[in-house]
Amino acid sequence: ITGHQQLHVYLFPVMAQGHMIPTLDIARLLAARGLKSTVICTPFNAISISKTIERDRLSGLSIDVQTIPFPAAEVGLQEGIESMDKVTSPEMVSKFISAIALLQQPFEQLLEEHRPDFVIAGMFLPWATESAARFGIPRIVFHGTSCFSLSVGESLKLHKPYEAISIDADPHSSFVIPGLPDKIEMTMAQLPDHFKGENAFAGMMEKVRESERNSYGVLVNSFYELEPAYAEHYKNILGRKTWHIGPVSLRNTDILDKAQRGKKSTIDEHYVLNWLNSKEPNSVLYVSFGSVSRVSNNQLLELAMGLESSGHPFIWVVRQIKNDDQETFLPEGFEERIEGKGLIIRDWAPQVLILDHPAVGAFMTHCGWNSLLEGISAGIPMITWPMFAEQFYNEKFITQVIKTGAQLGAKEYNMWVDAKNVSLLKKEQIATVVTQLMGDGEEAKEMRQRAKEIGEMAKRSVEEGGSSYADLTALIEEMKAYSKK
Ligand code: UDP
Repeated sequence: ITGHQQLHVYLFPVMAQGHMIPTLDIARLLAARGLKSTVICTPFNAISISKTIERDRLSGLSIDVQTIPFPAAEVGLQEGIESMDKVTSPEMVSKFISAIALLQQPFEQLLEEHRPDFVIAGMFLPWATESAARFGIPRIVFHGTSCFSLSVGESLKLHKPYEAISIDADPHSSFVIPGLPDKIEMTMAQLPDHFKGENAFAGMMEKVRESERNSYGVLVNSFYELEPAYAEHYKNILGRKTWHIGPVSLRNTDILDKAQRGKKSTIDEHYVLNWLNSKEPNSVLYVSFGSVSRVSNNQLLELAMGLESSGHPFIWVVRQIKNDDQETFLPEGFEERIEGKGLIIRDWAPQVLILDHPAVGAFMTHCGWNSLLEGISAGIPMITWPMFAEQFYNEKFITQVIKTGAQLGAKEYNMWVDAKNVSLLKKEQIATVVTQLMGDGEEAKEMRQRAKEIGEMAKRSVEEGGSSYADLTALIEEMKAYSKK
């Protein structure tokens, strides 16, 4: 595609690392296929992606950023709180949702000015469907998760199995989610909050569903072979149009690309690589819980002791809860004792670079979809520790569907640290699961083998001739035809 015929796509991610990171990858993928990609971003968030975009532009890709000011002051948020990883309380979540709603009008101004051929917008921008329609432009939804979890969410919504459970029942007794290709079980305690009555989020989720139904289709960061039954279920049973175009993280091939996803890492990437180079293949456990989750100090203490007593080398990413927080959770003398054996990264790690290193043998994760898919692409098994959002669904995908991981035993959905409602995962439990998964038992070996095969499938899917490559071509062709009309 050249000259005036070049297709122009607007990509508007939800302001959260888990959405901005894959959306930027998608923008780059589309630009590499000859499209002009414009990422819509708020000023603070634009800073973190500007380096990558600059490098892409230098290499000849047609990729750009347009900023829309974030109305923090208007909703009573502090300046600079422009991403979900800076949001620390339920009140702030409500304000954040209100701020996102105010972006519609400036977004429409941009649409009017540039008239892109199509829009890929994040799920929490439900009004984007209507905005795009005003200009006769198709809007495609990006949920940032798999067809499996979209199907689980939809089944829960349609069949409401949780309504049949009495309020006196044990919140940890399980029920089967009806209408799915596999028998998937979950408990009341794991059910996301938005199913439990009216709250700002429940209202938002309704809008998200409605806007998806009116949109042109759904872009999925996953690959067909990973979840064929659910890809078909979502398409044929629920009647949604989808394109599986992932894993989009595989777009990042060199060290800089892998190290600079999202924020700049707080550790030198060459230091990490050297550290990993000194370790045996498959010997290191990587521990990270994404960009938003919060873990109580008591729980961090148990985790520290569990990791230490497992005896396996580890890299552990610890996010600071607040800038003024004292690090009270590490046991006495911990860092001296683990020197050489454990590497603690404070705040932001070059995650994909680490996962792709041959020394890394498993990933302890909060089951954010990007993290899981990055682990899947690296061909390693997972230790699952879901906390909120659709993370419990994702855990079930790993442990019950593709069976490449062991659960740690997290029981309660918890967006915010609240020791009263969340049971502590004890150090013994943590050490046992780590030792089993990293060990030489038959089950662990089989899991490793399966994970490796799926990782190879993931890589094939994005190469020319692979399923994700083909789906991306199909999307581009369809948008070309639409634009001609
Ligand atoms: N990530 C990273 N370094 C970190 C923590 C996270 O690069 O220290 C990246 C990770 O690779 C993933 C994203 O941030 O792409 C987190 O998304 P995910 O869906 O896993 O979790 P969320 O942050 O949305 O809960």
